[in-house]
Amino acid sequence: MTGNITFTMIKPDAVRKGTTGAILNDIIQAGFKIRAMKYVHLTQKQAEGFYAVHKERPFFGELVSFMISGPIVVAMLEKSNAVADFRTLIGATDPSKAEEGTIRRKYADSIAENAVHGSDSDENAHIECGFHFSQYEII
Ligand code: ATP
Ligand code: MG
Repeated sequence: MTGNITFTMIKPDAVRKGTTGAILNDIIQAGFKIRAMKYVHLTQKQAEGFYAVHKERPFFGELVSFMISGPIVVAMLEKSNAVADFRTLIGATDPSKAEEGTIRRKYADSIAENAVHGSDSDENAHIECGFHFSQYEII
């Protein structure tokens, strides 16, 4: 059995380009229900905490500076098979390798500035939702 919750962020590049509405529309049209959502500008500490799993990767510094370079939208999403279906909807990490019609293919420019985040497991989806939302913010 796979879970029905995933977590997403519309990253600073996509917010800057004015594609927040288009991306949310694609997400909703694909059958995801928004359970929680907010518009935030992360601090360096928050971004480092969120991406702690990547702290040994060579791009960690670049990733954190990018993620704090502007506001983002964070959301908890519900759908059957949420984690896998959402990763299919967003496409490969590198937008030039992402399938036609996927969110990253449509709205992202590079592997670093790739428009959206999607959880990679049910366990991480719950950890990430817990990082950003308290119980009263979840509908
Ligand atoms: P995300 O976790 O954001 O959904 P992902 O699971 O497809 O993306 P990860 O391997 O978890 O990819 O990498 C996390 C993020 O780090 C990527 O989305 C991207 O913003 C950045 N990143 C990944 N690889 C690189 C790279 N080679 N150079 C620069 N940034 C990178
Ligand atoms: Mg990831």
